[in-house]
Amino acid sequence: MNGEKLKLSKSKDAFEVAKKYIPDGVNSSYRSAVVWKPYPIFINHSVGSRIYDVDGNEYIDYFMGYGALILGHSHPAIINSLTEQIKKGYFFGLPHELSAEVAKKIVEGVPCADMVRFGTTGSECVQAAIRLARAYTGKNKIVKFEGHYHGWHDYIAVSIHPPIKCAGLESSPTPVPASPGIPRNLLENIIVLPWNNIEVLEKCLERHSHEIAAVIAEPLMCNSGCIPPITGYLETLRKLTREHDVLLIFDEVITGFRLAFGGAQEYFNVTPDLAVFGKALGGGLPVAAFAGKKEVMQLLEDAKVIHSGTYNANPLSMAAANAALTLYQSEGGEIYKRLFKIGEKLIEGLRNAIEDTKVNAIVQGMGPVFQIFFTKRGVITNYREACAANQDQYELFHKELLKHGILIHPSMFERIAPSAVHTDEEADRTIQCFYEALRYVRAQQ
Ligand code: PMP
Repeated sequence: MNGEKLKLSKSKDAFEVAKKYIPDGVNSSYRSAVVWKPYPIFINHSVGSRIYDVDGNEYIDYFMGYGALILGHSHPAIINSLTEQIKKGYFFGLPHELSAEVAKKIVEGVPCADMVRFGTTGSECVQAAIRLARAYTGKNKIVKFEGHYHGWHDYIAVSIHPPIKCAGLESSPTPVPASPGIPRNLLENIIVLPWNNIEVLEKCLERHSHEIAAVIAEPLMCNSGCIPPITGYLETLRKLTREHDVLLIFDEVITGFRLAFGGAQEYFNVTPDLAVFGKALGGGLPVAAFAGKKEVMQLLEDAKVIHSGTYNANPLSMAAANAALTLYQSEGGEIYKRLFKIGEKLIEGLRNAIEDTKVNAIVQGMGPVFQIFFTKRGVITNYREACAANQDQYELFHKELLKHGILIHPSMFERIAPSAVHTDEEADRTIQCFYEALRYVRAQQ
């Protein structure tokens, strides 16, 4: 255990060097020192459930590459698959057989997927799904939910985590661009709704369905902490979109291959028209995909609707995805049983620790992905309620866990994502650390 002795001086030095050449010293705004205070941890290497920083600190990792690493770090089957592919050529820029093999696995295992296209990142595949929906319906507007994240591009980086004072009424949120540089006129094509509010959704579709191409949602909201759909919500979303000739897009970049092989759509038994995948699809290599109904996906044929990308379906990403999907499917989905078991053990341990330490907090989500909110509420059902939870206490919890050798993300808007290779002993140790960290949080109140 690292205990109080955690040293991060080499991370600090690495950060100072990086800042000379890279704005903010990092390559994603969400890795910035604003989030990872006072500076991000720089990683040296990782294996299995463990990750090691440049100072030599060892952590049990529950960040798991934003949840991509269901198989843990540096899994031998993925390394083997990559090594074999490297010998055959690591980039062609031309079709190769492996992409159809991976696509076949997705089509056979994911309910909405009649056909699949690959890209490199979730953001660009969301963009492709939105374009397809607009082309298919001949309509322009997209409905998204406040607090949901679908990537950083201009069309959809709206009302991700808007300051409440700019966000308008809870029942009809004002679309708030996530960044300067997003053209204001693009906001005309976005309708932002509160998550988990059936009445508002009904009214919106009744009034605007003639101009709405698609509703996009994270079926399990994972980017404002973990906020499950209320009972019947996804079913109603499906029913109403179908009745109003609006496409339903599930953004399964986090939930895909994590909640089940068939993602949240399998877990909740609600099938969208289109879905987007990323993260776990590549087992840690950069690959994303969008998939859906044949009649929609067929618009890509004869290059009617354009979708391209130099590195789409590149051999290394496909080799990794092939190995990852093979493992996810092996032994009748044993990996999911393991993932749920370890996650549920952690959730139960965390809930017990909250009760025993008498901290005001709740845990939401399910085994493969969950989050703690420091709040007096019994449940959090949307972004506004999540915002009212205590981020300062969450940061104390994160920092204290780090000192004990447990890595979670420092923002309560992320989530805890175990892998199938975390052991019961590691879970036991983690639960002890939950107790320590919660006692610390309580002592600071
Ligand atoms: N959708 C969701 C639900 C995500 O969580 C993310 C990334 N966190 C994205 C889309 C964007 O994916 P990428 O970072 O690969 O562009």
